[in-house]
Amino acid sequence: QTLDQGLEKTKESFFSKITKAVAGKSSIDDDVLDNLEEALVGADVGIETTVALIDRISDRVKKDKYLGTADLNRIMQEEMAGILVDAPSSLASGFDLQGMPKPYVMLVVGVNGVGKTTTIGKLAHQFKAAGKSVVLGAADTFRAAAVGQLTIWSERVGVPIVKQAMGSDPASVAFDTVQSGMARGADVIIIDTAGRLHNKLHLMEELSKIRRVIKKQLPEAPHEVLLVLDGSTGQNALEQAKHFTAATEVTSMAVTKLDGTAKGGVVLAISHQMNIPVRYIGVGEKIEDLLVFDKKEFVHTLFS
Ligand code: GDP
Repeated sequence: QTLDQGLEKTKESFFSKITKAVAGKSSIDDDVLDNLEEALVGADVGIETTVALIDRISDRVKKDKYLGTADLNRIMQEEMAGILVDAPSSLASGFDLQGMPKPYVMLVVGVNGVGKTTTIGKLAHQFKAAGKSVVLGAADTFRAAAVGQLTIWSERVGVPIVKQAMGSDPASVAFDTVQSGMARGADVIIIDTAGRLHNKLHLMEELSKIRRVIKKQLPEAPHEVLLVLDGSTGQNALEQAKHFTAATEVTSMAVTKLDGTAKGGVVLAISHQMNIPVRYIGVGEKIEDLLVFDKKEFVHTLFS
């Protein structure tokens, strides 16, 4: 799926709301801004981010006196891109791993069902297609289904997986995975973790233990802690992001299931409010349906 296809539903609803917000107006007045505010909240951009956006737009309108509604699309695109967090340059190039440490260790966190395993499979596929060797680690040892799913992905992609018996210590699996990855000279090590949110303290302890054992072998690892969020849950995804970032250090995010939802505006809220770069977006169930997030392209697509 292309970005355009993946965002189809969001675009439809977003566009119709924005079009309504400016219908019959010749200049960007308070009335237009009020309507726009409503449209943005309705598109799951969230109150906080909407207010920030409206503030920026209204500042611009005051400054550049002669702005009409015809300018609104362009201004909105610029201001929207302006509030989104940039990926660090080391990550911005997507799958070009030039200059990246080897092995590059990714810890993947997120609640069950958000598309964590699928995202890992898609990532492994992209890394492999880029000529990188990958090792997966099944450190979600609490759900047989999670290990089973990851095993299926490892077979589909053709990369090795490290796992242990059900119920074994996740940190021990993480340790084994890094050890095995290093022994094989792997370029990328991706470790799946359990996403039980009902007990924040437990989650915190478990993730910090996993980090500790990884660091024992590779002090600078994990290089990336990727939080996977389900975009189709709209503002709930933002709430999950808040929970996880309170429990552990998250360095990047993937927002999945943007296809089939009109709530894609939540990507703006997540990137703006969490102040962590969205690095990937999921736009379908197929192996190639994971896109590197580019804020300008994303915003432009919403408006085109
Ligand atoms: P996990 O429990 O977080 O590991 O979730 P899974 O990876 O097993 O995914 C849960 C469901 O979401 C599966 O049916 C996936 O096919 C589906 N899924 C994952 N990512 C996407 C996506 O970007 N788009 C769509 N439409 N479905 C997705």
